[in-house]
Amino acid sequence: MAKKRIVLTFPSTLVGQPITTHLVKDYDLMLNILRGVVAPNEEGRLVLELSGKKKSLEDGIKYLKGLGVEIQSLAQDIKWHESKCTHCTACIPACPTQAMSVDRDTMEVSFVKELCIACELCIPACPFKALEIQF
Ligand code: SF4
Ligand code: SF4
Repeated sequence: MAKKRIVLTFPSTLVGQPITTHLVKDYDLMLNILRGVVAPNEEGRLVLELSGKKKSLEDGIKYLKGLGVEIQSLAQDIKWHESKCTHCTACIPACPTQAMSVDRDTMEVSFVKELCIACELCIPACPFKALEIQF
């Protein structure tokens, strides 16, 4: 049994389509949805743990890529370097779990490690390299 934790970003045209059902039925995969942000007419994002036979996993991922779904693997850990953070808030919209959040009164950004799923989506959003992937 192989397992893979991935982040799927899919275009608005695919939101509402039974993609996950196909993964289960046609590719014999088990899905554990860790997080999901899917709004009608907007880009959707799902963080999934997929498990199944190695070949089924490869085929399922090929199917997703063929549809135009972007796939990223999850990193091991994310570190927030508070001393480098300027509280610019650029990472806030990128974070699907609110591990990075901003206090609207003080405009201070904070990081809650327990909420972080290491999807890495905040990394390119930070102009000050205050977020780092740790393997
Ligand atoms: S990696 Fe970044 S974007 Fe992803 S959950 Fe953790 S803090 Fe949020
Ligand atoms: S994008 Fe970087 S510098 Fe800006 S608030 Fe987030 S972690 Fe801090």
